[in-house]
Amino acid sequence: MPRAIVDPQRCRPQECVDGRCRVRKVCPTKAIIQMEPHEVPATDPGRCHGCSKCVADCPARAIQLV
Ligand code: SF4
Ligand code: SF4
Repeated sequence: MPRAIVDPQRCRPQECVDGRCRVRKVCPTKAIIQMEPHEVPATDPGRCHGCSKCVADCPARAIQLV
């Protein structure tokens, strides 16, 4: 099953309100983790089930399923 990963070269947290990764809210399994605002988030492969909602919602197209 493909899993989501964040490309740190493409991710631009400053484009999300208050630097908070917006796709955390669309992930149904809370698999996207951002410890602090303005940090590049990470995905938890144990929670991701490859639904691709985060891929569609990221304004920087920084998330891929691999
Ligand atoms: S992964 Fe996308 S939505 Fe999340 S902080 Fe980076 S640019 Fe923003
Ligand atoms: S692919 Fe779906 S389950 Fe996986 S991190 Fe993105 S929104 Fe969450």
